[in-house]
Amino acid sequence: EFASMVTHELKSPLTPIIGWCQTLKNPKLIGQLNSKQLNAVDVIQRNAKRLLQLVGDILDVQKLDLNRMKFDSQPIDVDDLLNYMYNNLQSVMAQKNIRQINSTKEQLTVRSDRNRIEQVLNNLILNAVDFVPSEGGEIEYGAQSKGDEVLFYVKDNGTGISPEKQKNLFHKFYQIDTSVTRKHGGSGLGLAISKGIIESLGGKIWIESELGKGASFYFTIPNDRTNTAMSEKVMSEKVM
Ligand code: ADP
Repeated sequence: EFASMVTHELKSPLTPIIGWCQTLKNPKLIGQLNSKQLNAVDVIQRNAKRLLQLVGDILDVQKLDLNRMKFDSQPIDVDDLLNYMYNNLQSVMAQKNIRQINSTKEQLTVRSDRNRIEQVLNNLILNAVDFVPSEGGEIEYGAQSKGDEVLFYVKDNGTGISPEKQKNLFHKFYQIDTSVTRKHGGSGLGLAISKGIIESLGGKIWIESELGKGASFYFTIPNDRTNTAMSEKVMSEKVM
C-alpha cells in the first residue's frame, strides 16, 4: 500500500513539469528561448517523460501482482487497431529509418481489452525499434486467426537474443545490457508487464530468437475473453 501511494504521489508533479516544458518550447506563449535554453528544456522534458513511464510501469506491476488490474471486454476490430498503431508509429519509424510492415491479411474481431493489447504491442514494437540495425531496419507485425484465438506477432531483424538469455526475459527488472552506455533505455519491466497482461486476458506470450538473427515475439488472445473467463470459472467450480 505504501509503495502504491508513493508511486501515485510521484506521478502528480510530473504532469505540470512536462506541461510547462511544452509551454517553454512554444515561442508564442511566454517568450522565445535561444537554442541552448531550448536544448536544456528538451532534456528536462525527455527525462520527466521517462520518469512518468517508469512510475506508470511500477503501478502496473503492482496492480498485476495484487490482481487488481481492471480489464475491459469489448469487441475489437483488430485491423482498425493495427492501422491505428501503424499511423501512430510512423514518425518514430521515419526518424530511425525503419521499415514497418503490417502484414495482417484477415479481418479479425476479438472481445478483449483494446488499450491493454495496444500497450503490449507498443512495448514489443518500441523494444524492436532499439535493436534493429541503423541501416535496413525492419519491423513486421500483425495478427492471424488460430482456432479460437488470435495470434499477434512482432518480428524484427535486430540483434536477437540467445536462448540462455531468453529464460529470464519475462522476469521483472531483467535487462540484457545493464551498462551505462547502452542504447536501449528502460526499466526491465516492459516484458514482465506484457506477460502479466496477456495471461490475465487468457492468452500466452513467448519469444523465438537466435542471437544475430532477429527476434520474433508472439502472443495469443482468446476470441472472446468473456467465454474464457466463464469457462475458467466453471472449471474452478467443478474442481472445488
Ligand atoms: P526494458 O524496459 O528494458 O525494455 P523489457 O522487459 O521490455 O524491458 O525487455 C527486457 C530486455 O530484453 C531489454 O532490456 C532488452 O535487452 C531485451 N529485448 C527486448 N526486446 C528485444 C528485441 N526485440 N531484440 C533484442 N533484445 C530485446
